[in-house]
Amino acid sequence: MNKALLVIDYTNDFVASEGALTCGVAGQQLEPKIASLVEEFIAQQELVLFANDLHQLDDPYHPESKLFPPHNLKGSNGRNLYGSIQNVFEKYQNQPNVISMDKTRYSAFAGTPLQLILNERNISEVHLVGVCTDICILHTAVDAYNLGMHTVIYKNGVASFNPQGHDWALDHFQNSLGFDVK
Ligand code: ZN
Repeated sequence: MNKALLVIDYTNDFVASEGALTCGVAGQQLEPKIASLVEEFIAQQELVLFANDLHQLDDPYHPESKLFPPHNLKGSNGRNLYGSIQNVFEKYQNQPNVISMDKTRYSAFAGTPLQLILNERNISEVHLVGVCTDICILHTAVDAYNLGMHTVIYKNGVASFNPQGHDWALDHFQNSLGFDVK
């Protein structure tokens, strides 16, 4: 095991048509690519980690409360993974190399055990998929960069509700962070 697939925020609230903060069709189109990558990483016995946003309703201390409508609330269906990805997760969730992790900030590294999980498995290569390209993928990617991780981004594995932000972030990954964007 030396690489990890990080599936970021691929939940109903961020992807489903009725989601509270949805990327809509752009997010839904990622489903087959994410499903095939999950299967590929599991078949290779690599780590697959789902990092899902977690919020409390009307949390007065959370910086996102002023910026976005309530989303990914604790115990809500909005926090379940979208479509077939929830099924794939349930199928493999008892395997030791499949982890589901809560996060409360944009980056999957912020205030979470992600770095410890990667370090204890000697993983220094992360592959990022999910949403949104220019928010949670971006912040996770910048933290991975600062930790010196080899990072791979899949163009058809990330999406945003902001097409300009999506394009800008992909350019940033390739030309400012030197990531493998494919
Ligand atoms: Zn959030």
